Amino acid sequence: MPEVPLDFPRQWFECADPSDPDQRIRADLTWLTSRWTCIFGRGCPGIYKSSPEAGCCTLGAHFSDKEDRKRTERWVAKLDASTWQRHRTGTKKGWTVKEDGAWKTRVVAGACIFHNDPDFEGGYGCALHHLAQREGISFIETKPEVCWQVPMRRSYENIEHPDETAKTVVVISEFDRGSWGPGGHDLDWYCSNNTEAHIAAEPVYISARDELVALIGAEGYELVARACREVEQMRAATGLTIAPHPADPK
Ligand code: SF4
Repeated sequence: MPEVPLDFPRQWFECADPSDPDQRIRADLTWLTSRWTCIFGRGCPGIYKSSPEAGCCTLGAHFSDKEDRKRTERWVAKLDASTWQRHRTGTKKGWTVKEDGAWKTRVVAGACIFHNDPDFEGGYGCALHHLAQREGISFIETKPEVCWQVPMRRSYENIEHPDETAKTVVVISEFDRGSWGPGGHDLDWYCSNNTEAHIAAEPVYISARDELVALIGAEGYELVARACREVEQMRAATGLTIAPHPADPK
């Protein structure tokens, strides 16, 4: 069984947020030092058997806010029929839709409208991802936020101290099946806790540096990365580790 049960122990690191005195950062070191990597196009069977080549792009992407939608819109304007398979449909009929009061990308032919089929000459997969590669920039710039975050999860908690001070805690962790909502447990396949996707040469805190900097800032990232390095050094020096990710190679 390549997918490990979700309730495994985790090691957490918490520190003051250097960029905001009213915030703290709490980071899941079990996830950030894990060897997860996206295996889209190299083994990902898709979250639904009905769209095996669409990865987790099956449902379309909800925008986090108006700015997220507007930023994406500016990049969509740079796509054409040679780089976006559904260009004609998207420009004629629109590429967004409102669902339960929230804007998201439309689903066409079983996947997000920006998903190009494997045989499309302009490149298989997300047209906005390929656009970023052509422009020589991070895909953080071109894709809706949720698309570059999954399976990284940023959430917020509020804590109140007995001295009546309060802080917001920015929590960085794994976007596991439970994070998808009740339907997450019905996905046909998922990667974050699956040994088939824990095959990277480098840990998540290095491979996802750009994403983490966007989520917690450069100074916050340095503190979290230092904690990750210390965990790795302890493992290397002693062979002991606290709560390693169970989907990682043994
Ligand atoms: S994030 Fe996971 S489910 Fe989505 S495409 Fe990558 S491997 Fe597949």
